[in-house]
Amino acid sequence: MRIAEIHIFSHILPVKNGPYTIASSTVHSLDTTLVKIVSENGLVGWGETCPVGPTYQPQHAAGARAALAEMAQGLIGADPLQPLVLRRRMDRLLNGHRYAKAAVDIAAYDIMGKQFKTRVADLLGGAMTERVPSYYASGIGEPDEIARIAEERAAEGFPRMQIKIGGRPVEIDIAVVRKVWERVGGRMRLAVDANRSLTTRDTLRLSRECLDIPFVLEQPCNTIEEIRSIRNQLHHGVYLDENGEDLATVLRAVGEGVCDGFGIKVTRIGGLHAMATFRDICEARSMPHTCDDAWGGDIIAAACTHIGATVQPRLCEGVWIAQPYIEGHYDPEHGVAIEGGHIKLPNGPGLGVIPDESLFGSPIASFG
Ligand SMILES: [Mg+2]
Repeated sequence: MRIAEIHIFSHILPVKNGPYTIASSTVHSLDTTLVKIVSENGLVGWGETCPVGPTYQPQHAAGARAALAEMAQGLIGADPLQPLVLRRRMDRLLNGHRYAKAAVDIAAYDIMGKQFKTRVADLLGGAMTERVPSYYASGIGEPDEIARIAEERAAEGFPRMQIKIGGRPVEIDIAVVRKVWERVGGRMRLAVDANRSLTTRDTLRLSRECLDIPFVLEQPCNTIEEIRSIRNQLHHGVYLDENGEDLATVLRAVGEGVCDGFGIKVTRIGGLHAMATFRDICEARSMPHTCDDAWGGDIIAAACTHIGATVQPRLCEGVWIAQPYIEGHYDPEHGVAIEGGHIKLPNGPGLGVIPDESLFGSPIASFG
């Protein structure tokens, strides 16, 4: 099979009840990039990549589109049924920019599933569950507000909550964590995510002053070196997120014992093919991890849910999707949504989501 056409779309997703605030940014709406691949036999596959603003990571929306435009013509004629060969072909066309290549990889898996009448989760090794656990990420807020949100989410059935902290005096963050623990206790697993913003000093203080509260510290400091320097003094498990930039870095972090698990983004690591390798590395070393992306609509949500369904359940920390913060769906019938803190695995074939293309307007670029 050959790729006959590639179309790139840009689409704005306003944040419902926004803005969404994390230590590194405040976002009112997100600029997502969609990739539509058409095969020579007329099958259509969709991919998506949507950085959560330009300061969360080095990735940004205009960068994704520039990278896709750089590669697209050279991908015409490639075989979407061979994800490994396709990834190597993209690497010959452009160095790096895995978050853009991921959108092509996801679209290829969507086509592959349609060709073989199979769900993407089954192409990735097979689903362990039809009801994939999710988790809720609060924005940054005051103790009472975040504790109220935690209580509501626990009542809804979320098995896990991630508390965002950072960008302010650490005393307030400690008060938030203590208040959430008081209200929900052991009803949800907790992660505390500083999005790289804490000093080693404040990370040590947070861990010391919350000694009695079982949570994992997600990406507390900016670099692996900072985390390594205090690792042996912490009372909590440490997960890497933003520092898990690629498979080589993941291998280094696992090998050096810098972390106990990962929050990971499908697009940052390079797409579903790379994500399956990441999953297997983690399983070989019993490392729990999430299967997330930064932001985006039904396409990326479906991709995260399909890979999430294949993770060994005891290591699955959940699939975060932006759906609670987005009004409506690309696919009104099969849109991916959280219910009772879990996501129903789309039925396929492929991703199992058929977007209403008219929402995206005309492509910003077409190749073929
Ligand atoms: Mg994170």
